Amino acid sequence: MAKKTETFLLEDVRPRLMRAAFVPTLVAVTDDPDYVDDETVLGTDDVTAAKIGGAPLLTKEAPAPKCGKCKQPLRFVLQLRRSDLPAAAQVHLAEELLQLFWCDDCQSEGGAENPWSKGALIREVALGQPLAPRKARGDDEDDEDDEGDEVDALSVTFIRDWQEVEDWPSGQVEVLAAALEVSPKSEATREKLEALAEAMDDAELETLDGVKIAGWPRWVSEPETVKCKCKAVMNPVIQLGEDAVVVGDAGTTWILACPACGKKAYVCQQ
Ligand SMILES: [Zn+2]
Ligand SMILES: [Zn+2]
Repeated sequence: MAKKTETFLLEDVRPRLMRAAFVPTLVAVTDDPDYVDDETVLGTDDVTAAKIGGAPLLTKEAPAPKCGKCKQPLRFVLQLRRSDLPAAAQVHLAEELLQLFWCDDCQSEGGAENPWSKGALIREVALGQPLAPRKARGDDEDDEDDEGDEVDALSVTFIRDWQEVEDWPSGQVEVLAAALEVSPKSEATREKLEALAEAMDDAELETLDGVKIAGWPRWVSEPETVKCKCKAVMNPVIQLGEDAVVVGDAGTTWILACPACGKKAYVCQQ
């Protein structure tokens, strides 16, 4: 623990506040020329790619999942590839693919507040033989003769070219106190931390929004602590910022990992 008398000048504490984060380039792809614009390029989906939306890799070992609450098929949200990541970030994944699925219905019924909600699934899967693709967006499996149905244009965002960048905590007193391992209870300490937050603001040291691995979570509201079933405090490992993932209710989502047992959970804030 830090000494009570310590001052928190930015130049002194800077190394303790800086964390490496990894941010990707996001490439929006469509297969319909009508949807191509400044931000969207023409292309096709790839089930083994790292991406948001589109079709996930489904295998015999890891088939399409259903909601643990309402039994509907879960919606595919995100897939990351371990081998795409910078070496320092690969430790967070045990298998080649990390997949996140969730249930739009159960998510909007408060499921997002429960990190262990059965309305979502985070799983790691090995690359394997893809199952034959099922009819896209076919919620009703019995509905086989749907000729004449319009097929929606492909909308997928590939996640590529992860780069290491510097990331900084938010200026919230509690966050800075935790980062510097001091108690925010004393008024004197709070004042010093507030001055530090101002200095960080002046230096434009910010918490990165959007999609990133590691770094500091950019909380939408109060910082959140999630405890694993094994009782260890889980670390936010992957952040899916507000604009990145618009599925169900908007907001920011984090995938959390347990440093002790490796379990993964997730948390959303709006
Ligand atoms: Zn559900
Ligand atoms: Zn654990």
